[in-house]
Amino acid sequence: MPQRILCNNCGAILFEGMDLTPPDEIVQRYDGKCPKCGKKLSFNPINVEIRKIK
Ligand SMILES: [Zn+2]
Repeated sequence: MPQRILCNNCGAILFEGMDLTPPDEIVQRYDGKCPKCGKKLSFNPINVEIRKIK
């Protein structure tokens, strides 16, 4: 299952690949900010299906 992580400010692709890499690891890899627009990165889990339990 391919995973893609985008900057939620400018849409730059920060990570793309088949590995399931935790978003916080990607954030660390970029020193906590987007290399393109410089926005501080904070990711919610992406590619994780969230189901509401009622
Ligand atoms: Zn950006």
